[in-house]
Amino acid sequence: MEPYAYVRELARQDKLSHAWLLLGENGEELEKLARFTAEVLLCASTGEKPCGVCSHCRKMEKGIHPDLITLLRSPDRREIIVKQARELRQEVWITPNEAARKVFLIPEADALNTEAQNALLKVLEEPPPYAAFLLLGRNPGSFLPTVRSRCLTLYLGAEAKASLESDSASKLAEAFLKGDALAWLEAAFPCEKLDREKFDRLVEELSAAAALRAKAGEGEIRRRALKLSALTFRVKEMRRVNVSAGHCLGWLCAMMNEEAGA
Ligand SMILES: [Zn+2]
Repeated sequence: MEPYAYVRELARQDKLSHAWLLLGENGEELEKLARFTAEVLLCASTGEKPCGVCSHCRKMEKGIHPDLITLLRSPDRREIIVKQARELRQEVWITPNEAARKVFLIPEADALNTEAQNALLKVLEEPPPYAAFLLLGRNPGSFLPTVRSRCLTLYLGAEAKASLESDSASKLAEAFLKGDALAWLEAAFPCEKLDREKFDRLVEELSAAAALRAKAGEGEIRRRALKLSALTFRVKEMRRVNVSAGHCLGWLCAMMNEEAGA
């Protein structure tokens, strides 16, 4: 699913994560998504977030919200050092000024050295209920697995751009989660004609969408999302032995119907 739409959907379901890892090549685009997510987290509207009109949204717009705290790498260093992480950790325990939440933004989180990441781990694991963290980075490999496992990861980049593939992937995922065969067929039809590279990207997107829904959902939705996630790995294997796009989609549809009948 397209990341902005996904953040909105999580807000709608009241399932916003307290720890986010935003990964992508373009730092500017990452910061844009991070600011959007921060706005959603801080917005006081009971309807669609961000509303753009509440005092929090307006302060975010002007860049003066007191509950958005940014941790920057010091320009004379290549890394964010443990001293900075410890200072941030203390700040986490001070309750928000105005909003219901306090958001900590780390634009170059992949510059956190290992000691600094370990220092943050404790608050990522057991944060006070109002705290939220937005970690941004280009290189997923720079993060400790323990940090990664605490965060909801969003990918931003060429693959995540609104495209037929990502749009279709989110429609297919939704159809699968609902067990809606008609919606599935409608979404699957244009995908059968995708070229090899695009179809493989669609499968990746579908896999990512299923993993995200599995992480955010619960009960039946979570169960189905996990099932879909597992099935997409089977499809990747099928693609390796040149099973056609149409056949893969048909197989997934049959699996979905079996699941619905179970
Ligand atoms: Zn608002």
